[in-house]
Amino acid sequence: MAEIDIYAGLKKFFGFTRFKGLQEEVIKSILDGNNTFVVMPTGGGKSLCYQLPALMQDGTAIIVSPLIALMKNQVDALRALSSEEGVAQVLNSSLNKTEVKRVKSDIASGVTKLLYVAPESLTKEEYVAFLQTQKISFMAIDEAHCISEWGHDFRPEYRNLKSIIQRIGDNIPIIGLTATATPKVQEDILKNLGMPDANTFKASFNRPNLYYEIRPKTKSVDADIIRFVKQNEGKSGIIYCLSRKRVEELAQALQVNGIKAVPYHAGLDGKTRVKHQDMFLMEDVDVVVATIAFGMGIDKPDVRFVIHNDIPKSIESYYQETGRAGRDGGEGHCLAFYSYKDIEKLEKFMSGKPVAEQEIGHALLQEVVGFAETSMSRRKFILHYFGEEFDNETGEGGMMDDNMRFPKKKHEAKEDAAL
Ligand code: ADP
Ligand code: MG
Repeated sequence: MAEIDIYAGLKKFFGFTRFKGLQEEVIKSILDGNNTFVVMPTGGGKSLCYQLPALMQDGTAIIVSPLIALMKNQVDALRALSSEEGVAQVLNSSLNKTEVKRVKSDIASGVTKLLYVAPESLTKEEYVAFLQTQKISFMAIDEAHCISEWGHDFRPEYRNLKSIIQRIGDNIPIIGLTATATPKVQEDILKNLGMPDANTFKASFNRPNLYYEIRPKTKSVDADIIRFVKQNEGKSGIIYCLSRKRVEELAQALQVNGIKAVPYHAGLDGKTRVKHQDMFLMEDVDVVVATIAFGMGIDKPDVRFVIHNDIPKSIESYYQETGRAGRDGGEGHCLAFYSYKDIEKLEKFMSGKPVAEQEIGHALLQEVVGFAETSMSRRKFILHYFGEEFDNETGEGGMMDDNMRFPKKKHEAKEDAAL
């Protein structure tokens, strides 16, 4: 029975005929009223996991999300799918008195199925007192890794969520969702949300169509990058650099060599950033040279290569950034240049930070060193880091990295790194 219902709901609310990955199992767990934990890569379809059960149940689901822009996107999309404007509402500090009143009356009348809130809004006594009197179907904590100092986006406000949820209601089911696959972060999430027994659904993080390659970084890195890009003429690619200065330099070097490339970093004014991003999306240029400011929310399915001019500060970042290649399932070459000197540079950057943060940063960097210098399968290394066992013989993409394709001895890898 429940099965028929959720398929009907999927069609009715979203127009889809099938679930993606583990969505169906997740949704059943939520509809059964269980605490549920969802780990799926970016683009895996996590939002629908809470949106559909929220739309199908009595009461209002509270969705905690860290960014106003993310909330707004979802609210607009849900309103477009529904005949009721009030089906999705946001509660935040930008609302005036009249607007707050409207949101409250929509919740009270049962029109609002999803209420999006920033964690800091939930600390407002007035809101908590109101929500206590309402029928809440469940609480979903999106981007739940923000709870953990081991994640890439720690937000202290996320730490208070459990006690606030308890104040809103005694037996409200909690749903945590994240794309962060490291076991440490996951442990933190379950502990902080007080749900060690949550039904856990974890999708594989394997990206079989991506080819991983690390090369030693030498003085000729510019020439190496230019040669690689020329060999991939006409294909779209992203080149990540640590500093704005290096972004500008490298973009220029590419342009001088006849490659259609634009720079992108937070130091450029908003207009230029949008223009360069659009040029890349519209394929007026092939390459965008960027700091990590580029990429969040960018969905270009046919990015054929991601180059790291500088090794990222964690495996997590490396995975997210390389993950922007080959979204369409086609070829995706991930090439990173590595020198131990860059690790020392990154260590130095951290030296001004609080000791606890430095320790975490150092531990994350050591993993990066291990990854860059390993002679084992890069894919196996990444997936192991994410707590997944991978068998190169039977797993998809088992041969898709430099070490598997061109095995070399351990000391050679070490010598390369010392350059
Ligand atoms: P995540 O939050 O995991 O990164 P999203 O929730 O943003 O992913 O979903 C990514 C994309 O997948 C969206 O464009 C969404 O519409 C689409 N999607 C989700 N579920 C389905 C489905 N069952 N069938 C088809 N497309 C889906
Ligand atoms: Mg999401």
